[in-house]
Amino acid sequence: MISQLTVKYLIKNIIVVINARRFFGTNGIRFKPGIDFSLDFVIEMSEAIGTYFSKGSILIGYDGRNTSPMIAKAVMAGLMSVGLQVGEAGLSPTPALQYAISKLGYNGGVMITASHNPPEYNGIKVMGQDGVEISREDEVKIERIFLEKSMRRADWRTVGTYQQETKVLSTYIQGILSQVDIDLISSKRFKIVLDLGNGVQSLAAPYILEKLNCEVITINSDINGEFSGRGAEPTLETLIGLSKAVKAYNADLGVGYDGDGDRSIFCDENGVIYTGDRSGAVIMDYVLSKKPGSLVVTTVSTSQIIDYVANRYGSKVLRTRVGSVDVSRKMIETKALFGIEENGGCFYAPHIPVRDGAMSTALMLECIAKRNQKFSELIKDLPQFYQKKTKFTCPNELKTRVMNLIERYSEGEVEKIDGIKLWIDKSSWILLRPSGTEPLIRVFAESDDEKKLEEIISRFSFIVEDSIKKCGGG
Ligand code: MG
Repeated sequence: MISQLTVKYLIKNIIVVINARRFFGTNGIRFKPGIDFSLDFVIEMSEAIGTYFSKGSILIGYDGRNTSPMIAKAVMAGLMSVGLQVGEAGLSPTPALQYAISKLGYNGGVMITASHNPPEYNGIKVMGQDGVEISREDEVKIERIFLEKSMRRADWRTVGTYQQETKVLSTYIQGILSQVDIDLISSKRFKIVLDLGNGVQSLAAPYILEKLNCEVITINSDINGEFSGRGAEPTLETLIGLSKAVKAYNADLGVGYDGDGDRSIFCDENGVIYTGDRSGAVIMDYVLSKKPGSLVVTTVSTSQIIDYVANRYGSKVLRTRVGSVDVSRKMIETKALFGIEENGGCFYAPHIPVRDGAMSTALMLECIAKRNQKFSELIKDLPQFYQKKTKFTCPNELKTRVMNLIERYSEGEVEKIDGIKLWIDKSSWILLRPSGTEPLIRVFAESDDEKKLEEIISRFSFIVEDSIKKCGGG
């Protein structure tokens, strides 16, 4: 005989399964405030986050978006309402907040940011006690609490307290400086141009470089919610101003950050801007030269240049799904030394295994100083691979069928870590991946032969379009 309680439990679980929509995407919860979700949602989701943490103090930081202070207040209210203590860090680069969570002894943290997305977006990232974003399994736990509406309620006696946390930036700056050879870098008196993209790395990177005796020239350094300079995303196209400034000032290096300061794109002394995996490979080469054989973690979409560098030092490369959470968590699990993403994310475990634009910059300077070569010379030392990206509109409900159809065209080695990665020959591959957040199939290919890359892209563009049509889309 089934008890009334069991029936209630079953019904509740059926409702949860039916409603099992995902809120967390590749990088936390991203949304357009007031359009996708209201403040009521933010408060309730924060109550669910607080219930997941259950007790302790949570550190809250935010980027320079117009909606960030408003969302941060709602998040803090939600957390306090379930009995958690909150520390408000205010404006902070994401990696600064992450480092401070672990260093200052918080039980977790929440960062309000939509990283490189346009100004109308914002987002919520949840970090554990180690400062690293919580695992995919823990994200599901929070979603479940939210959907079940099983948030705790604190009364007036147990409601959480509030305090300002003023040590986040100084702790972060000190933490990065402790990881590099200050005297060596200082002796070079580097001239560096930073394109801060109107983002929050303005609060740390220029000061770190000044402590390293660099001559620092900044552009787009005022923090504003419109990202009025060149937008929040540093790309080969948006960093033209940085390239010009590096040449005009005759600088040694240029660096462009994204809106929340966890990614960095580098520019050489001639004004040439490189993709994240190419410049990241220079840092990785240097880091591995000091600890050969150490593990490296990267995503399925990163260049084979990573494997080339790892081979030099007898290191193994582990590949994950696309997403910084996956890289960070894999690094912790395997005690890897270094992590890398093609979008300009570098993760250095001795500091904290999260991507960090300022840490990457400091390591790059130490590398250039130690090797006593220009950045362009270090880059030239790496083999040339060509890459191309494209995307196709595909309704969400058709994605699985379309991907199954595409897989039939696969010959040779197939990797299914995230989407389908097909190896065409030993140095050419194509990755076809349904987007986790948008009605798109993303296509990304790489080859050591530029002509072959064009052929691969054009052949598979036809296959993807044809598969979408056959499944009833397009
Ligand atoms: Mg970012």
